[in-house]
Amino acid sequence: MNASADLAASPLIELRGVTKVYGHGQAAFTALRGLDLRIQPGEFVAVMGPSGSGKSTVMNILGCLDTPTQGAYLFRGAHVERMSRTQRALLRRHYLGFVFQGFNLLARTSAIENVELPLLYRGESRRARHAAARAALERVGLTGWETHAPSELSGGQQQRVAIARAIATSPTLLLADEPTGNLDTQRSREIMDLLVALNREQGITIVLVTHESEMAAYAQRVVGFLDGQIDTDHHNGSPEAHMHDGHGNGDRTETAAAQALPAQRTNAGGH
Ligand code: ADP
Repeated sequence: MNASADLAASPLIELRGVTKVYGHGQAAFTALRGLDLRIQPGEFVAVMGPSGSGKSTVMNILGCLDTPTQGAYLFRGAHVERMSRTQRALLRRHYLGFVFQGFNLLARTSAIENVELPLLYRGESRRARHAAARAALERVGLTGWETHAPSELSGGQQQRVAIARAIATSPTLLLADEPTGNLDTQRSREIMDLLVALNREQGITIVLVTHESEMAAYAQRVVGFLDGQIDTDHHNGSPEAHMHDGHGNGDRTETAAAQALPAQRTNAGGH
């Protein structure tokens, strides 16, 4: 649909009127109610909202793990909701990286083998897998820990392995669902610093779910969900947060809560 000349200006992600209904008939529950959201390449967006507001549902849709009941999901201008299951799996494998609250590492499997896994699914050679996994572990500050199993690593280190696994494939979009939910404050800050650095240095677009305002303050933009709809959508204060114009019409909405957020951190590159 898009002329290639328009591609650079296109959003990476666009949700148009996305509705998600779980169940049928009497038991039907509408988890998303006509959501419109545009995210530009290179943005770092935090998604906040109370439990049950639809955050996981939207992450599952963005991650191509679920499809909207109604509406459109465009990834680089391509209609994901029209894709087959196989096409969506390929999109996931080649463009997306995932980080979860519970790390989701294979136990009794070394750090490097965990990181190599998505590359194995992609059919990369043993040699290429090893090189990419080593580089990813180095990027997250875990050189020297390659052969350690998750049980031999701290929570913060395990999440670093999970981040290395997510970036080893050079994804365009990183989806992080409460990545600091199981970590103490210091470890959480280190993980957020790492995500900020990956966003800035490698240009990876990040969508992060968190319910901690301190963690949301690391993002350029905070989208607040309420009852399956976008309630607030604002930029955090730093000048570069305004680099990406024109996503959605909620940008100008600012709430008292948003203004109360701590200033965005600038210590990119910290390990
Ligand atoms: P959040 O991540 O913000 O806590 P969710 O996206 O998980 O919210 O859920 C939104 C609403 O949809 C909740 O009320 C939840 O109970 C409901 N829901 C989520 N998944 C399902 C499902 N598979 N079947 C039925 N209802 C669901």
